[in-house]
Amino acid sequence: MSESNTESDSRNLDGLDLKELLAAGITSPDQTSDSIEFPELEGFEVIRLLGRGGMGAVFLARQLSLQRLVALKILSFPKGGSDPMLDRLEREAQAMARVSDPNTVSVFDFIRLPAGGAAIVMEYVEGTTLREKMSSPMQWEDAVKVALQVARSLESAHRAGVIHRDIKPENILVGRDGESKVTDFGLAFPVEQNVQRLTVTGTSLGTLGYMAQEQLEGGVVDERADVYSLGVVLYEMITGKKPFGNFDSPAAINPNVPQLLSDLTMEALLPEKEARLPDAKTMRNRLELTLVDFAELSEKKKNTVRSPLIFWTAATVLLLLLSYVFFSVVPNSNGQIQRLEQPVEISGSWDVNEGIYSSGSDICLLGLKSSAVESGSFDIEIEFTRRSGRHSVSVFFPHENGFGGIELSAWARNLGGLQVLDGVTLEQSPSAFVLDLQNGRRYSLLVRVRGDMVETYVDGKSYEVSHIGERQFRVSDPWGWQLGSGQADCDFVIGSYQSPTTFHSVQVKKAR
Ligand code: ADP
Ligand code: MG
Repeated sequence: MSESNTESDSRNLDGLDLKELLAAGITSPDQTSDSIEFPELEGFEVIRLLGRGGMGAVFLARQLSLQRLVALKILSFPKGGSDPMLDRLEREAQAMARVSDPNTVSVFDFIRLPAGGAAIVMEYVEGTTLREKMSSPMQWEDAVKVALQVARSLESAHRAGVIHRDIKPENILVGRDGESKVTDFGLAFPVEQNVQRLTVTGTSLGTLGYMAQEQLEGGVVDERADVYSLGVVLYEMITGKKPFGNFDSPAAINPNVPQLLSDLTMEALLPEKEARLPDAKTMRNRLELTLVDFAELSEKKKNTVRSPLIFWTAATVLLLLLSYVFFSVVPNSNGQIQRLEQPVEISGSWDVNEGIYSSGSDICLLGLKSSAVESGSFDIEIEFTRRSGRHSVSVFFPHENGFGGIELSAWARNLGGLQVLDGVTLEQSPSAFVLDLQNGRRYSLLVRVRGDMVETYVDGKSYEVSHIGERQFRVSDPWGWQLGSGQADCDFVIGSYQSPTTFHSVQVKKAR
């Protein structure tokens, strides 16, 4: 790894030995003296300088006892030194020690040097910094891979109660094996974990251009500040520019960038932390979706001539036929919670047994009747277990602005939320969420419709709140073919797509 952080210091110091380095008079930004005093570190043989940043110098060294290469981050103070800086280095080592993760540089030890100063002994990453890698344009797929690994590191850090606060390309090391690792926990803040959200109130330390608004203002900072910084890094990797002022979306700058990736990057960069992607896990999930989506699209392109057209044509004809087969329905009794016994089979194979509806394969839609739904403000709650498959379990309901739909696990990608509002599908919806539906597990999905507001709960937890306003629902394929017209005899619909599911109960309640 070459010296990368000292833009002002253009000398290439790689490959020199320590004595030469000292003779060359390397300065530490934190010191006024002209040279780094590097005390002998017993048990280590220093090989060369790896890089420098604001905090100290990092050297490649051989740990003699174990005969392995390590990186030594050294802070040396010739004249007694400054304790606050040493304490900071110690805190850095402790923050690193809390995070055990393949995408985070591991710390081995923290040593106070007898002659003053201290050293962090850590895993050596042979490769380059991301800054160096970014000096030539990156393919978006490579950028997503790096971002995924950084998101993984952040996820572990946040889980361990550590906010990094200085995510930037200089602090991301890309190993020769292609794996990225996050380093430099110099600003990291370990916070106690028995709070709902990890927060730090503090100084606006960090790196300009990578700091979220709240960090810049020295306000309360939580894991979303790291999400923002990773958003900047991602934006830079895929566009070659930093997001500045009224910046364009990555897809607008680089047409190769998939819309999903562009959208998630923009969501990570939202100045209001409440609106931003909420955490590293969500960011990781969304990044993974980008890759899955791309793989699926490529696969589809390969198969375009074959199955889909025939399949969907057959499905449409079948559904049109079946849509005539509406059976009787149970009337609603004064808007109270109601279990609907008799289904209206629209399509697919359904096994109906004492209020338990089991869907078969392919497109399964079951129409149900309830005057509660007609009132415009109502709750639909379904309890279901997806038995197999990877695709969606859904609820469709009428609304004065069209036919709304809530899907969970749409397109086998665990995407969930309100479907096809104003022509915008879940894929583009900013409020869509990711829920990893486990087969064989029983879930409850509650859809609360309150006039213009639709709220989605899964297992009692609110996942999405959407205000429809004046906007229209537009049904989409394939659901649109079945639900677009002729809904007179069915008020709402439950369904599954290529995922046999048991609906243990369906209840509808009119809002008071
Ligand atoms: P600072 O807190 O001074 O910014 P860093 O921890 O970021 O210090 O390290 C400065 C530079 O040293 C990095 O940008 C990188 O080039 C190099 N470096 C740091 N840690 C390692 C490591 N574990 N392996 C290889 N190089 C490293
Ligand atoms: Mg650094």
